[in-house]
Amino acid sequence: MNNTPQKDLTLDPENWDQMRALGHQMIDDLFDYWQSIRDQKIWKPMPDEVKEFLNQPIPEKGQDPQEVYEEFKKNIFQYNKGNVHPRFFAWIQGTGTPMGVLADLLASGMNPNTTIGEHSAMYVDRQVVNWCKEMMNFPAEASGILVSGGSMANITALTVARNSFGEEKIRSRGLKAASAQLVLYCSVETHSCIQKAAEIIGLGTDAVRKIGVNEFYEMNVEDLEIQIQKDKASGLLPFAVVGTSGTVNTGAIDPLDDLLEISRKYGLWFHVDGAYGALAKLDPVYSERLKAIEEADSLAFDLHKWLYVPYEVGCTLIRDAKKHREAFAITPNYLLQESRGLSGGLESINNYGFELSRGFKALKIWMSLKEHGREKYAQMIAQNSRQAEYLASLVESHPNLELMAPVSMSITCFRMVKPGLSENQLRDLNREILLRLQEEGIASPSSTILNGKYTLRVANVNQRTRMGDMDLLVREVIRIGEGIGVS
Ligand SMILES: *Cc1c(COP(=O)(O)O)cnc(C)c1O
Repeated sequence: MNNTPQKDLTLDPENWDQMRALGHQMIDDLFDYWQSIRDQKIWKPMPDEVKEFLNQPIPEKGQDPQEVYEEFKKNIFQYNKGNVHPRFFAWIQGTGTPMGVLADLLASGMNPNTTIGEHSAMYVDRQVVNWCKEMMNFPAEASGILVSGGSMANITALTVARNSFGEEKIRSRGLKAASAQLVLYCSVETHSCIQKAAEIIGLGTDAVRKIGVNEFYEMNVEDLEIQIQKDKASGLLPFAVVGTSGTVNTGAIDPLDDLLEISRKYGLWFHVDGAYGALAKLDPVYSERLKAIEEADSLAFDLHKWLYVPYEVGCTLIRDAKKHREAFAITPNYLLQESRGLSGGLESINNYGFELSRGFKALKIWMSLKEHGREKYAQMIAQNSRQAEYLASLVESHPNLELMAPVSMSITCFRMVKPGLSENQLRDLNREILLRLQEEGIASPSSTILNGKYTLRVANVNQRTRMGDMDLLVREVIRIGEGIGVS
């Protein structure tokens, strides 16, 4: 036996003053980064030695915190994705804000597991969900939950839809309780996460009917109704319609009023995937067209996209709170609630979703909405859509540019054209333009294929973009495109 007293171990810093100074330095470096972001390259390729550095075995021994931070700056910080930059337009990715980041720091510092218990984070979480209902004009009695993002928000809603189906008791007996195959309807433009969700909740890919779209990439309502009738006639069980508010390809809005009406007519659950574009409701130009969202049985939307909040956070709203609870509530012995003390307070959030442990992601939304107010967000969202429309006008007034889809919300799809080029040559030309835009660190659009044609895609949920960035983008596309010889 060794009788010398053991030193108690801890992960707190050996030198608090040093760690505090390091923390201040990190904040200063972040502020320098944000304040100069416009003058920096949006993206740069990662050198091989950096990739090599990031492919080492687990460290056995610790090293000095300052040294760890220097390694971060040298190998990680510099090679960021770029969606904090004013000309990031790839996929649909939000910018974040300084206040959102600082809120995340505070949330992480408090580190409450925001699932259960009597403590402030539970009340902030509830308040933010209530604010989400207010933004979407959902009834106050509706329920909701903050989750990691749109994919999780969609599968959460579709799980409630499935478990609420008829008298089948699918939650307890599984899908075999249904007398026939449950069928879900969406469009060919619907985000892939809906199909994944359908696969995971046991419907299977074959039960997802992808209805065709019109020239505006909006679901064909007639085709939807015909398909529902056909499925009913062959003994299947239509159960849910998914409409999209802002498709990921072109920002298209499905005819939500019609989808709502058809859902009611056939007794189907009406879900809206508004991951990207539900928040366009705040823009007066779109609020009428998105009115049916208020009547939906469920809605999924992201706050890390068009509310510009740092990753990750999305929200599910369910009109019928009882159905929501019945789909998920379960109380094991180790999660009993009391009427007093730390286990008192609000109901466990786990009764409304799958995830048990949850971070304090509500705080960044709470602080951001308080910092700017709903009106400012409405203006920001409108600004992005006006920027997209302005870009389209620049495209249409240039003889060598072609608009590839009607502009909806804040997505502009276009390409460069040159006389006499084949479709394949146009694809190669525009792909090369895209890659050089990125590699020269100028701007980051992404690409898609519309009606078989390769197109540049500019999706703007960027709080740092200015109108002038659109002029610059067009100028650079032309400059680069003119310099590319086509073979
Ligand atoms: C982004 C998006 C999703 C997926 O959301 P994540 O937050 O990336 O999980 C789903 N649907 C639409 C329409 C989207 O734009």
